Amino acid sequence: MPKEKCDRCAKKSVIELPYGPHWLCKEHFLYFFEKRVKKTCRANKLILPGEKILVAYSGGKDSAVTLYLINKIFGKRNEVQALLIDEGIEGYRDKALDIAEKNCKAWEIPFKRVSFKDEAGFTMVDVMKKTGAKKKLGSTCSFCGVIRRRIMNQFAKKFGAGKLVTGHNLDDEVQSTLMNVCDADLNRFLRIGPIAGNKKIKGLVPRIKPLWESPEIEIIAFAELNKIDYHKEQCCPFKWQAKRNDFRGIVNHLESSYPGTMYSVLSFFKQVKSKIGKKGAKKELETCSKCGEPCNGKQCMSCNLIKKIAFAK
Ligand code: SF4
Ligand SMILES: [Zn+2]
Ligand SMILES: [Zn+2]
Repeated sequence: MPKEKCDRCAKKSVIELPYGPHWLCKEHFLYFFEKRVKKTCRANKLILPGEKILVAYSGGKDSAVTLYLINKIFGKRNEVQALLIDEGIEGYRDKALDIAEKNCKAWEIPFKRVSFKDEAGFTMVDVMKKTGAKKKLGSTCSFCGVIRRRIMNQFAKKFGAGKLVTGHNLDDEVQSTLMNVCDADLNRFLRIGPIAGNKKIKGLVPRIKPLWESPEIEIIAFAELNKIDYHKEQCCPFKWQAKRNDFRGIVNHLESSYPGTMYSVLSFFKQVKSKIGKKGAKKELETCSKCGEPCNGKQCMSCNLIKKIAFAK
């Protein structure tokens, strides 16, 4: 429960940040949250002056807050646009994207709404019908992630974006860190961070994460206190397939028993990356013979997945 008073003024506190611990009023929390996002952007040189910025906006809280803040902080000196990707999950993403469209119009941010159906030839419902509950071709989420990343990169290039922005938050990053440790996947582990992947790969627009040091619970508070509308009705019906769910539970349990655990994991990750990051980074990628996107090998993962879906019975 928040104590009566803010740590920084005489006003009533609205939030307790247990890792401090800090108790903050509305004004001081909003200032603190925005300042941390600015610091993440500045310290990691996420956005350069004049660079075009494309923000992937799903209609959920993370991408809503990301778009709102990126536009607020950089909108005057950088051209900001939003990309709304519809995976074709009826009753879920269509509702979320309607909210996203409404916000883009209210914030006067140009946006483009695209679909898996138009860009890849199938919806995620089609994929689910073919992969089935037994995940015979891989999990629904792995298809979704690969296809979404390809569409994001293609549209970022079309827009001439210097950076593609996603709404990944601290909880996501800590879950990914632990998942990669448990999978003993050092290459993937080293690709985590505020700038995903290698900045210098030709044909790949760097993906940046301004919220990577912002806990999910504070993102919700920021959205609510700013009256930012976001899709909150229900989860994606295919979410139960994601291995990440187990790691989310573990991280939430650890954070509530030992406040500050998520920042400790992040700090450990930074220490490891600064010691071996450069040695572990891959330098060159090839070009997919089918779609022209950068990839490892002759054909990219998304072209392989699209083929698998087309031939699956
Ligand atoms: S939960 Fe999985 S299937 Fe649903 S939108 Fe996310 S990645 Fe796609
Ligand atoms: Zn205050
Ligand atoms: Zn391809």
